[in-house]
Amino acid sequence: MNGITEPRPGRRLLLLHAHPDDESIQTGGVIARYLAEGVDVRVLTFTLGEEGEVIGDRWAHLVADEADQLGGYRIAELSAALTALSVRGRDLLTPRFLGGAGRWRDSGMAGTPSAENPRALVQASAEELTAALVDEITAFDPQVVVTYDADGTYGHPDHIRVHEISHRALPIATARLGHPIKVYETATPASALAVGQLAIGEIPDGWRHPEPGELASCPDELVTAAVDVTEFFEAKIDALIAHATQIVVAPDRTEFALSNMIVQPSLPTEYFVRVDVADPEFETDLFAGLP
Ligand SMILES: [Zn+2]
Repeated sequence: MNGITEPRPGRRLLLLHAHPDDESIQTGGVIARYLAEGVDVRVLTFTLGEEGEVIGDRWAHLVADEADQLGGYRIAELSAALTALSVRGRDLLTPRFLGGAGRWRDSGMAGTPSAENPRALVQASAEELTAALVDEITAFDPQVVVTYDADGTYGHPDHIRVHEISHRALPIATARLGHPIKVYETATPASALAVGQLAIGEIPDGWRHPEPGELASCPDELVTAAVDVTEFFEAKIDALIAHATQIVVAPDRTEFALSNMIVQPSLPTEYFVRVDVADPEFETDLFAGLP
């Protein structure tokens, strides 16, 4: 990445994510873009992603019901992804976990026994999680926070928990800091997903196209911010590739698949819904309107 367009000293962006890989899939472009613009960006991940399925044979025995080493391994993947999103020649963005790495465990998909693990994020006390997140927010003092919607984007129990705990912690942190925080939830508008899907050509063997409605999206009119990340598209793809136990990127570097092998387009614009104010104006910059 060459040069910083408009340095923004004093600007801080905090992104809250459930598992390593979510940051790159949903917000890889904005992470890279705002880092390049001189914003102090922090990615706070709630779990190590211990219950993820592993793609391919090489690391297959790391999974929870075998070696149970996947979580530690995914710290390395997250480190590589954040490096890919970082600006050359400056401090690399590094992983940070709520409560410290390994404090709370990936709860697994809804209805699986892993949700019963006493260390699972869904078993933790909401008060304890909220207190930990309030401490993180007040220590970093961001002007902008990105989190998930009430469905957790696609219904994963840990994503829903990130949403719930974010919305408990943000009013407390805002009161302590004494200034408002712009709060956004990640979103994929239906029309942008459709355009991305139409652009997909031939897909690799073993992949399949999604059934109608199988990939999460929201009505276009809900979206209140669209951030152009075209310039950082290659960095975002490199970050996806870094999560190799979880994601396969197609040879043309425009689509990817998770372990379900459903092809998904990687979009050159990332979309958000602002939720800290009623009827927000449409924005193309998450820092718009700040003094
Ligand atoms: Zn996730």
